[in-house]
Amino acid sequence: MATYDAIIIGAGHNGLVTATYLAKAGKKTLVLERRPIVGGIAVTEEISPGFKFSTCAHLAGSFSSGIVADLDLKNHGFELLGLDPLLFAPSLDGNSLLIPRDFYKAAAEIGHYSKFDADKYPAFCALAKNLSAFLQTLYGIALPDKANPRSFNPAELLKIGWKFHRLGEKEMYEFLRVLPMSAADWLNEWFENDLLKATLAASGILGSFVGPRQQGTAFNLLHHQIGASNGALRTSGFVRGGIGQLSQALAKAAQRFGVEIRTGAEVLKIVTNSGAASGIVLQNGEEIDATQVISSADVKRTFLKLVEPTYLGPHFLLQIQNIRARGTVAKVNLALDALPKFKSSNGNDAVALGGVIHIGPTLDYLERACDDAKYGRLSAQPFLEITIPSIADPSLAPTGKHVMSVWMQSAPYDLRGSDWSQQRDTLGDRVVNLIEEYAPGFKNSILHRQILTPFDLETEYSLTEGHFYHGEMALDQIFFMRPVPGWSRYHTPIENLYLCGSGTHPGGGVTGLPGYYAAKEILKNRSRQK
Ligand SMILES: Cc1cc2nc3c(=O)[nH]c(=O)nc-3n(C[C@H](O)[C@H](O)[C@H](O)COP(=O)(O)OP(=O)(O)OC[C@H]3O[C@@H](n4cnc5c(N)ncnc54)[C@H](O)[C@@H]3O)c2cc1C
Repeated sequence: MATYDAIIIGAGHNGLVTATYLAKAGKKTLVLERRPIVGGIAVTEEISPGFKFSTCAHLAGSFSSGIVADLDLKNHGFELLGLDPLLFAPSLDGNSLLIPRDFYKAAAEIGHYSKFDADKYPAFCALAKNLSAFLQTLYGIALPDKANPRSFNPAELLKIGWKFHRLGEKEMYEFLRVLPMSAADWLNEWFENDLLKATLAASGILGSFVGPRQQGTAFNLLHHQIGASNGALRTSGFVRGGIGQLSQALAKAAQRFGVEIRTGAEVLKIVTNSGAASGIVLQNGEEIDATQVISSADVKRTFLKLVEPTYLGPHFLLQIQNIRARGTVAKVNLALDALPKFKSSNGNDAVALGGVIHIGPTLDYLERACDDAKYGRLSAQPFLEITIPSIADPSLAPTGKHVMSVWMQSAPYDLRGSDWSQQRDTLGDRVVNLIEEYAPGFKNSILHRQILTPFDLETEYSLTEGHFYHGEMALDQIFFMRPVPGWSRYHTPIENLYLCGSGTHPGGGVTGLPGYYAAKEILKNRSRQK
């Protein structure tokens, strides 16, 4: 008898979700996490005394409400703070766009620049909402894979067909037409104002190595609507206490069902006997056996670092090596003495700054920012997604002070002719100087800064190539092709070894869904074995 029924590698939010559902079903489950805290990329860390940051992921609006209810997360300390306004997008010419949560109020704001766009905005939101809802339906189906070729469920296929039919003829065609389009082309069909188009298009390039004119970015735009979708804008919400509170709530729920969690426990290798996983070895040499091993670490790390390659076929190994995971995101976390004052309209208003702040005012700007990264250069004028969660949740900073979290895009993992140890401060300065251009005097309010380059994301947070989604979300790396074609149902070529992280279907973001579907699949397998 193995000591544990299941060992989960990694206490990121997906690992914790899988562990909890397995324990709930009666499995003796152990979670092993290499960092000193649980949460993976969804953590709150105090990087300067009294200033608590969601160091990596900062928005949790797409976390599954089904899992929240199922695991009673609210009673374990999870509280989502919805954003309103959703977004504030300043530009250097003094104009700015404010997008309140309500479609009609947003349309009124847009109307200051274009009546044509204002009239069309609610219809665009409704369409985006319907298309992303259908995408979510597709995320919910179990796709066929090599381990279970006969388990494809025709009833599920019929259900999908019915939901697709219910979109109506026009939207059925729109779904098929829009998904492979570029975000820019799609938005150009709808709107005329560039600030609005850039603001919406930013969702199409988040975390990807592409600009808004790249084919397939319309899919990304829709992917970021999933969750408590408000239509045309990204779903967004802070977690009270920082995003780490979600992970803490998940850990409490897990422990309630008997899951053991060990932090500071790095798995060195997955032990395999006669082609089947039978346990793990920790960095300190300790061996722990288990009937099943489930990895929430990214897929490349799992197969290229933790498993003996002799157990994997050359074709499978090549597929894993070919997963595109080119990191392009950096994070700059700033402790502030005061709120920034943007020079554009609304820019002095704390309410306006309480949602997401976008710096990336035109489609050309976003495209050029990405062009630099394509050629291995840190973007001269990067796209920034900024949040100041201490406006909604003052507990994150000392009284009167603030925490600012800046997502900077187009910071390529592979720098041409340089490396991140030389460029870390350049990146930090570039971000701060850019914000200063939009909000003069901002620099003087900085008390402390933390810079996380793609290399830091790899070394500190275990993200191969610093990729924030454990592998790009792109049309050739989703659905039955995630993580690789043929292995979309959390199984692997090694018996009793499963995957459950963001690199698996339905992909990245703080959704909990890969972890949930993985647990469902593993439990289904067990009942089949009985
Ligand atoms: C800078 C940044 C900002 C982001 N912002 C957002 C956002 O605002 N909203 C959003 O929805 N998504 C965001 N994302 C993406 C999102 O955070 C991830 O898709 C998601 O959190 C990944 O969760 P996970 O549980 O699948 O994996 P992870 O959180 O990566 O968890 C994997 C865990 O495995 C552990 N591990 C790895 N190897 C080992 C080993 N050998 N032994 C033991 N443990 C190991 C790691 O330490 C880690 O804790 C962001 C990502 C980054 C990097």
